This record gives sequence, structure tokens and C-alpha cells, in this order.
Amino acid sequence: MISISELIELRHTLHREPELSGNEEQTAKTLVQFLKRQHPDLLMTAIGGHGIIAVYRGEIPGRTVLLRCDMDALPIHETIKISHSSTTGGVSHKCGHDGHMAILAGVSAELADTRPARGTVILLFQPAEETGQGAARIISRMEYHPDFCYALHNLPGFPAGRVITRDGPFAGASRGIIVTLTGKSSHAAQPLEGISPAPAVASLISYFNRVSIQAEGIMATLVHASIGKIAFGTSPGNATVMVTLRAPTAETMDDLSKRIEQQIKRTAGKENLQHTISWTEEFPATINATLPNSIIRSTAEQLGYKTTILENPFPWSEDFGHFTEKYPGALFGLGAGVDSPPLHSPDYDFPDRLIPIGIAMFKGIIERSLEQ
Ligand SMILES: [Zn+2]
Ligand SMILES: [Zn+2]
Repeated sequence: MISISELIELRHTLHREPELSGNEEQTAKTLVQFLKRQHPDLLMTAIGGHGIIAVYRGEIPGRTVLLRCDMDALPIHETIKISHSSTTGGVSHKCGHDGHMAILAGVSAELADTRPARGTVILLFQPAEETGQGAARIISRMEYHPDFCYALHNLPGFPAGRVITRDGPFAGASRGIIVTLTGKSSHAAQPLEGISPAPAVASLISYFNRVSIQAEGIMATLVHASIGKIAFGTSPGNATVMVTLRAPTAETMDDLSKRIEQQIKRTAGKENLQHTISWTEEFPATINATLPNSIIRSTAEQLGYKTTILENPFPWSEDFGHFTEKYPGALFGLGAGVDSPPLHSPDYDFPDRLIPIGIAMFKGIIERSLEQ
């Protein structure tokens, strides 16, 4: 039997050794060390990078439930002094994935004590969530076809321990665009001899603002732009613009993508510029299926946890959307406190008191899902 203080210690160890998306080597080592002691029926490593799968089987065959947590940290320098501060400058767990891992590790300890009566439980520790690459990579290699899949995310801004759910879209879709524009550089004294991409960049930036409807979760947010070189004698000949698109559903994302693409083509054409468009960091919308979502809600009710049903999906994305696109599943939020700093801020730290709540939720969800 594992105590909560051991799981808190595990979370702190993971917090001290944060690793960026795709580089979760030490994180995986720490987890494997812990998981081996929980005697899963099967322990697989190096899944889609540094991913880990631990499988627990019941005596009677039945349904398969997958629970997923994410492993990666962020390129953010930690600004708070805590007992378990990040030991890697410029990298820290600011999305609370260290807490998600500790919760799933706690579930493995529960399953080590009491195997499911029937069916199979798959615990998936997934790398590279923040870049949107991990889930897709794992799904393409996975031998299992879960009947249900679940994940949770800690959510600052909600009361600690609150269970946050929504039927249908829970988190929006997002994708990045990299636009290059090529004209012709010229002497800064003779700008008309060249073709500067500057007017096109200005016009695109203003279009991105016009096309965004914050209230509907439709956004084109400029993340980076560069024009020419730092050379005072030269009028620029090329530019790069990077934008993140967000929309609540696949349809609205398609529509937004098409409009943006057309506008880029039109603007480049008008200004006599060559252009390229490439897409990156694609996250589908996370769509909660009705049955797994009702299982989450009834588990919370039975445990006596308060719930909040969201009116609108979150504007941010989760690469768990790759799972809900393929298997019936649902993502739920776990409130991290109303006064907590937001996710991805340098002073955020996952609240340890959520660990037993997350474990209890997952345990109830497993039982209910395997009864189906
Ligand atoms: Zn994040
Ligand atoms: Zn996250």
C-alpha cells in the first residue's frame, strides 16, 4: 500500500527534474522505477518516445479502459522558491503534468492492491502533450482499442477539488501556421527598386485581429513575426509570420483555416510576393462522449465532490483530442483553487491536495466503466 505522502514525494521528484516535450527521459526512468514496484501485468516503455504503458488485467475478460496522463514540462523559468524547485534553469512543470503523473502512479498502486474484477485497465504516461505530437504518435503505435478513455487536467481559477465537466466539446482545436513571404531586398535609399513584404505583414496582422471573435472562441493570435535583417542599409525582401488559430470545433477550425489561407494568398498576390504556408502543432478539439462523461459525473456525485458544468468549451487545446477523436472518451477538469496563478505562469505549482481526489475519481471511473 502506497501512502499519499509517497505520491507527493514522487510529484516533487518529477517537479525537480522537468523535461521538455519529447525529452522526458529522466521522467520516464523515475516513473518506471515506481511502476515496477506496483507489479503491473505488463509494463511497456519507449512508446512514441518516452511514453510508458502499465496494464492491469482482471480475471474475467471484459472492457478495456485507458487512463492517460501527460509527462512534459514547459520552457518557463520557475520564479517561486519551493522545497521541490526545478533544478533545470528555464524549464519547469507549469502545467501541472507532474501532478497528473503522481495521480496515475497512485492509480497503479491501487490496482496493484486490488486488480479489476473484470476487463483491462491501461495506464498511459504520454510524452509531448504541449507540442501536440505525443498523443498522435502513441495512437498510431497502439495495439489496444480501448472501449473508454479518460484524462484529467488541473484547472486554476476553479475551487480546489471541483470536478469540471462538459458534454461534447470540452477544449478547442488549435493549430499553428508558419507563413513565409518573399519579395526582393533593395538599398534602403531605393525601397521602390525592391519588393518589401512589410505592407503585407501589417495587413495580415490587422486581418488576424479582425477575424478573431473572442466570445465564440475563434482566434487567430500572432505569436511571432520577423521582417528582413537588422541592416540599416537594406529594405527587406522576406518575412516570416507565425500565428496560432483556435476554434471550438473541427468545423469552425476548418472554416477559420480556409479564410486565413485565402487571405494570405490574396495579400501575397496583391503585393507581388511569393509565399509558403505550413501547418504545425495541430490539436483536434477534445469532444467528450456522452456515456464516459456521465460516468465522470456520477463518480463525482457518489464521492461527494462538487461539480461544475461548463457553459462553453475552453479556448485552449489538449492533445487528448486525438484520443476522443478515435475512441469514446472524456476529459474532465480538477479545480486547482480560485486564487491560484494560471497554468503556464512562472509561479504555478500543482496543489498536492488534488492527488487523492484525482486517484479517487479515476478509481470510481474504472469501476463504473468496467461494469458497462
Ligand atoms: Zn500546458
Ligand atoms: Zn497541460
